[in-house]
Amino acid sequence: MTASSSTQPPERRAELAERLSALRNRITAACLAAGRPPSDVTLVAITKTFPASDVVLLASLGVTDIGENRDQEAAPKVAEAAALGCADVRWHVVGQLQVNKVASVVRYAEVVHSVDRLRLVRALGSRASAAGRRVTCLIQVNLDEPPVAAHAAADTHVRGGAQPAEVGALADAVAADENLVLGGVMAVAPLGAPPRPAFRKLWDVAQAVRASHPGAVMISAGMSGDLEEAIAEGATHVRVGTALLGSRPPFVR
Ligand SMILES: *Cc1c(COP(=O)(O)O)cnc(C)c1O
Repeated sequence: MTASSSTQPPERRAELAERLSALRNRITAACLAAGRPPSDVTLVAITKTFPASDVVLLASLGVTDIGENRDQEAAPKVAEAAALGCADVRWHVVGQLQVNKVASVVRYAEVVHSVDRLRLVRALGSRASAAGRRVTCLIQVNLDEPPVAAHAAADTHVRGGAQPAEVGALADAVAADENLVLGGVMAVAPLGAPPRPAFRKLWDVAQAVRASHPGAVMISAGMSGDLEEAIAEGATHVRVGTALLGSRPPFVR
């Protein structure tokens, strides 16, 4: 990181540094409580609704992984962060992904956490190939109990995630595509239910995937409100927005 940090009010840098330190303490405590080394867990800072200057500040504070949930916001932010001198972060896409956004996403995303249907796997593979990129894919698992219809129509589904029974075929499809790397699985805790049993179920799904694909070790689970439960159940990547950057306008999830 370079001089660009000086364009920020020093107060924002101090605020982010303080929140980051508190968050790292939470992650470390959760790892220790679970008997896991803190190096097991990667923080993915979810910067949606926050400016590229915050990405630059976070990178200067040692955050290596940045996540966004909408391509319309992420693509210009990636370019702006790069223009501000921020070259060394890995970009993750964590939100519901429409097929018509895939060509843009593969240009910057190293990891897509929200792969939940075959059509998306095919689009990611062909667009990654065209862009000369390899993209790591996580299969998003729907943990709603009882199962909610995963996707109403191809690209307009509301809540994402494949049903656990669909995950194996999706994982195989990702693994079979030479332009994609099967990283593992991802989930968002169900609404209105305790997160820990859901994260336990995700762990079980992850182990089933790993039995066929030993390299698929990533488990992306846990956000600001439930990262302890996720780490207790084996999360390797936590996706944290609010606890790090502050609250977002209420209409943005
Ligand atoms: C916004 C978002 C997060 C971060 O949520 P916080 O509660 O702000 O930490 C994590 N995962 C996904 C998929 C998101 O859209």
